[in-house]
Amino acid sequence: MTDTELAQRDAPTRQGPATSFRHFIDGAYVESISGRTFENRRPFDNGLIGHVAEGGREEIDAAVNAARAALDGPWGKLTVDDRSDLMRAVADGITARFDDFVAAEMADTGQPKSMMAHAFIPRGAANFKVFADVVKNVATESFQSPTPDGTGAINYSIRKPKGVIGVISPWNSPLLLMTWKVAPALACGNSVIVKPSEETPGTATLLGEVMNAVGVPKGVYNVVHGFGPDSAGAFLTEHPGVDAITFTGETRTGTAIMKAAAEGLRDVSFELGGKNSAIVFADADLDAAIEGIMRSVFLNCGQVCLGTERVLVERPLFDRFVATLKAKAETLRPGHPEDKATSFGPLISREHQKKVLSYYERARRDGATIVTGGGVPDMPAEMAAGAWVEPTIWTGLPDDSVVIHEEIFGPCCHIRPFDTEAEAVAIANNTQYGLATTIWTRDLSRAHRVAANVDVGITWVNSWFLRDLRTPFGGSKQSGIGREGGVHSLEFYTELRNICVKL
Ligand code: NAD
Repeated sequence: MTDTELAQRDAPTRQGPATSFRHFIDGAYVESISGRTFENRRPFDNGLIGHVAEGGREEIDAAVNAARAALDGPWGKLTVDDRSDLMRAVADGITARFDDFVAAEMADTGQPKSMMAHAFIPRGAANFKVFADVVKNVATESFQSPTPDGTGAINYSIRKPKGVIGVISPWNSPLLLMTWKVAPALACGNSVIVKPSEETPGTATLLGEVMNAVGVPKGVYNVVHGFGPDSAGAFLTEHPGVDAITFTGETRTGTAIMKAAAEGLRDVSFELGGKNSAIVFADADLDAAIEGIMRSVFLNCGQVCLGTERVLVERPLFDRFVATLKAKAETLRPGHPEDKATSFGPLISREHQKKVLSYYERARRDGATIVTGGGVPDMPAEMAAGAWVEPTIWTGLPDDSVVIHEEIFGPCCHIRPFDTEAEAVAIANNTQYGLATTIWTRDLSRAHRVAANVDVGITWVNSWFLRDLRTPFGGSKQSGIGREGGVHSLEFYTELRNICVKL
């Protein structure tokens, strides 16, 4: 049975039999060399999806050799136009297999099918189209320089692929976040080795079939499954044959990867954690602010790096805002991802559920008023073993509570009143993180002023998660290193070389 047939057979079903998720190395699916595998379980009922091959040093070696050989083979000789066409073919290939990708991602994450189908999978395909255009349209710089003999010189620069790129990705929207890195890396002519999250091996595995189907040469796209420390993740980042590492995940994992990358002075691009604020001024359009903050707090069960966990509301609006958000949050319906009535999915795993519930408990101990939620919802027996938590809102936490300072990555927020613009900015900036913020106001001057003063990489005004993929994306402070998106991705995935010609 092919991997396609296995994915089709198992992923969307409620009690499907075990599937194998194998590595994809040098254009072929391969078993774990050590024979070690681990389980992949559905978050909504803890049922077994299948077993995943666990990669060790040997698989990473094989993938690095394949990726290196690809650079020296036909892939390295393609023109930019050829590569751009291939990237478009990959996007079309994902679209052609749309239902398989939706099913695989839905099984791995447990999130509602509608969200997969309308947002996360189409964005996975769109990433390839965007970078297919970017690489074709970017110019490089040129300078004319005077020389003592009067004849002058011209300088121009060219972009070269960096080489073999290690891509380490998280579980919170697996295809979208992985292709956000794989697409520009390949469009620029690199080869990649992807280590997807151990929680979500599905779509990275499936993408290998698309790569083969559309004719991406073998060794260009490789996938090795496994964990982080002392497993495929660490072995990939430590491997001297990897020229640069792009990573999305937790800030402390970024620290470990940066240490590994120091050996051999390899370049890194990091998209890390956040503890993002929303700032709601009293003149805001309340309906729009509630609608936007409902999404930024609860979408994907709160497992969005750009999501809001701290809501700051100008005092005259505070009570009304809290009551309205509470009423809306209580309309969220947890359920099976395929049921149309489901508007709220589970957390990624029971381990993560334990972590989020520990913050729910900590909020209680720190004296929070629990506006809504705070526990585990009653689920039907067949889903009771899933990683469910209630959408939760708190008020009244002291400013030094860890609940306000640490990233929880769950469907929860603390709402706090403020009195002045300066106070709101100071509270928003009182964090080690600096990923994103949203500002809700009708006063445009204030919106611009506050946006410039909050220390984050991405600010939305009267909106959230509105993404133009050409814009710079990344975090300030401990939320990241570097910017990806549009031409900014080229800064990481290519090396700019200067050529000076004496005339
Ligand atoms: P994580 O850091 O636990 O894991 C991410 C990946 O790193 C996984 O593939 C994991 O196996 C691997 N890994 C773990 N330890 C490693 C090590 N020592 N060496 C090499 N690889 C290692 O993160 P997660 O729990 O999967 O994802 C959630 C986190 O990701 C949150 O902090 C969230 O804010 C962040 N995130 C950030 C962005 C962004 O754009 N800034 C986007 C999405 C998620």
